[in-house]
Amino acid sequence: MSSLEMDSSSEHQAAVPSEAKEENEYIIQATKSLRRHMGLPEDPTEKPSSATPSGAKCRLDVCPTNIMPGKYRIAVNPGCHSFRGHQSPDFYHVGCFEKIADFSQADFVDRVQPVTRNTWSFRNLNSSSVLDGNYLLDAGAERLTISWKEAVKKLINERDGVETKDDTSAAVRNLLDDAGSSEYVPQEIPDADAFEVRLLNTILAPNESDGPEDTEEWNIFYEFQMVVDGDQKSLDNRHSLDMSLYLWRDHVTLATSSNNLTEELKERKEKELNPKAIRAIKRLMVTPMPDIQGAFRRGL
Ligand SMILES: [Zn+2]
Repeated sequence: MSSLEMDSSSEHQAAVPSEAKEENEYIIQATKSLRRHMGLPEDPTEKPSSATPSGAKCRLDVCPTNIMPGKYRIAVNPGCHSFRGHQSPDFYHVGCFEKIADFSQADFVDRVQPVTRNTWSFRNLNSSSVLDGNYLLDAGAERLTISWKEAVKKLINERDGVETKDDTSAAVRNLLDDAGSSEYVPQEIPDADAFEVRLLNTILAPNESDGPEDTEEWNIFYEFQMVVDGDQKSLDNRHSLDMSLYLWRDHVTLATSSNNLTEELKERKEKELNPKAIRAIKRLMVTPMPDIQGAFRRGL
């Protein structure tokens, strides 16, 4: 299982490009090793990206930088080099993992699990650390990662002539896609978890609107999702997840900094972010926490 989560440990440094050829050879080996580890056949036709490393001391040895606190990372669990009795995961920058994992194959996409209030227990994490705000993805990253998985899976299925199974009801689809829009009309969802529905209607809502007159509502997928529906070329973009998350975090930084911006960034902020976008980003940068009170009520 590969978890996408927020890093809460090490330090980040600037990217240092390395010898591309040596890196490629290493990545071919690392790809084979990862595929073996995941129980997949080694694919000798695999062509690794020749992009320079984003530069970190993650599990990808050619990557010279660490994963900074507050950065997204991939944890592969259990790691390739777990000591006996110690199930320590391997950590990767998202971009580094994308170099060795082939996300144009369903096997890899299926195994990516965003770490959220609903899934963190699968990662075997320390609950007090989770409740301190570590590991869990912010609302924006959660929505983007889940929608990335769906979009990539849909393209893979279209390519392979496989029907995409979607058992999401119309009412849930409506909530997932339309919440936050002025045109959104909530529908009855039988047996819905009230806590979850409330989150999807508020913090996690993908749209931001200035009201019924608003003809240009803000939408997180439109802004940051790199995978284009119906465009097979999107599968060739090896770094679609990292790019999407990078864009998202870049805009969080832009939306939340004010006085200390350079002239260049001030200009960018005025051009790229209107008050509605800033409102949306500040809402979605929050991390939805587990329903502790609900868990107590249910006696868990
Ligand atoms: Zn890395």
